[in-house]
Amino acid sequence: MTNLVTDVAETVDTNPESAAVVYDGTELSYDQFWQRAGKFAQSLENRGIGEGDRVGIYLPNLPQFVTAFYGTLRAGGIVVPMNPQYKAREISHLLGDSGAKAVVSLGANVDNVDSVLEDTDVEHVIAVGDDAEDSTEAVGFEEFLADETLEIVDRADDDVAVQPYTSGTTGTPKGVLLTHHNLAWTTRANADVPTGGFQASDRLVGTLPLFHIYGMSVVMNGAMYSGGTYYPVPEWDAQTVMDLLEDAEISIMFGVPAMFNDMINQPNADAYEFDSLRFVNSGGASLPLEVLERFESLYGVQLNEGYGLTETSPVTHANTADSRRKGSIGQPLDGVEAKVVDEEFEEVPRVEEGPIDEDEASLHEITGELVVAGPNVMKGYYGLPEANEEAFTEEGGTRWFHTGDICYWDEDDFFFVVDREKHMIVTGGYNVYPREIEELLFEHEAVADAAVVGVPDERRGETVKALIVPVPDADVTPEEIKQYCLDSLAEYKHPREVQFVDELPRTTTGKVQKFKIRDQDE
Ligand code: AMP
Repeated sequence: MTNLVTDVAETVDTNPESAAVVYDGTELSYDQFWQRAGKFAQSLENRGIGEGDRVGIYLPNLPQFVTAFYGTLRAGGIVVPMNPQYKAREISHLLGDSGAKAVVSLGANVDNVDSVLEDTDVEHVIAVGDDAEDSTEAVGFEEFLADETLEIVDRADDDVAVQPYTSGTTGTPKGVLLTHHNLAWTTRANADVPTGGFQASDRLVGTLPLFHIYGMSVVMNGAMYSGGTYYPVPEWDAQTVMDLLEDAEISIMFGVPAMFNDMINQPNADAYEFDSLRFVNSGGASLPLEVLERFESLYGVQLNEGYGLTETSPVTHANTADSRRKGSIGQPLDGVEAKVVDEEFEEVPRVEEGPIDEDEASLHEITGELVVAGPNVMKGYYGLPEANEEAFTEEGGTRWFHTGDICYWDEDDFFFVVDREKHMIVTGGYNVYPREIEELLFEHEAVADAAVVGVPDERRGETVKALIVPVPDADVTPEEIKQYCLDSLAEYKHPREVQFVDELPRTTTGKVQKFKIRDQDE
């Protein structure tokens, strides 16, 4: 049996006194953390929330996230993580679609939850911090914890534990059903790697957001499973994190390329030593070779790249200390099957040894879509039979998941990502789905037509650019459009570049040819 909650319960039994979570000078031992999770679970049960019920967690990285996460799972519930930067418009869909019955929110964000209550099944709002408006009926987090702790509610391996949202190709966020087995398997696969796996003595820095599967599964669950100490960081700031790495003697860091890039570009980057750091991994977007090399020469520790998706809990590929190839996303994890296929689902031939010089080879012949299968692949999208149909191909008893990423592979089983098939923009580690911004732009009275694309950006990898065809005689400036987007969307989603054009290139079926827009920039 592989179940996340029973795995962590075992860790608590063997390490009750060690530090589970350290934040802002306060330490929670494993025993204390587990007690609090049990009290959270009991309180949910007291309110009739239990097996299969959804609980939204709308928090930055804080100890309360860890408590609410495991508390929900202990009660048999399903966690719906939500980006704390989301505004009312964005959480309304997630809460409505998932049918969440309770939400844990920052006090400062309770207003957003209150404003969508009518459109959702949410009955209980739990506020972290004391800055909620007096008008709200939210219960404070500490007040919410029951006096008793609930025993673990039994869940089958195949029961859903977490329902994060991702947009994939369509633009409408889809709930991804990840089971206890998906998550427990992934956590073990990451934490138990034969070389440099996680130890109880490890200190893991929590810079990756917990609402995203990477930070949640790899870092938080990895720490709780191995008995290590988790240091939540609510907001990325290179200097603060670099100080923490030294002061707290952090030994494991997972990040996105933009974070490592930020670190090496700090004016005092070479003043740091990070003697304790022994395991550093990058994922979520392509890691530029220059960043890898500068990081390694500055800090003398390997920076290994991995790859994954929300739908695969997330990791499918990784480079390890023993086996790595720069520029590659690594080899599939033991137990994960992966191949590159063409449109007929035939395997694309492998190159002898990657990376190849993309100018010389004919990329067209050696690239295809990466498909994967394994115990970490999601059960499916929530309530979307058509999306599930599209996402999987059954072949000889194997259920292959389509990643939507264009790759090639070599004879040593190293894989290389060339581009994304989908239009998703990854900016500073955050995913942005153009259609959502396009919809909002279309609501603006001065906008006749609009398209959003990702354009290269040194600092963030990509940045959001909007092309707009204004209505005739429109009285609007690019700055006003940016502000308009900022008013209703999380900051990282707003277009940093806005360009007015006469018309957009479209196909005969009306689709905007985004590759043409991007090419214009080069
Ligand atoms: P998400 O579902 O948010 O985890 O996003 C998954 C997507 O991130 C993948 O489909 C890839 O497009 C991208 N991605 C993740 N890791 C890498 C990587 N190492 N190199 C290139 N793209 C990556």
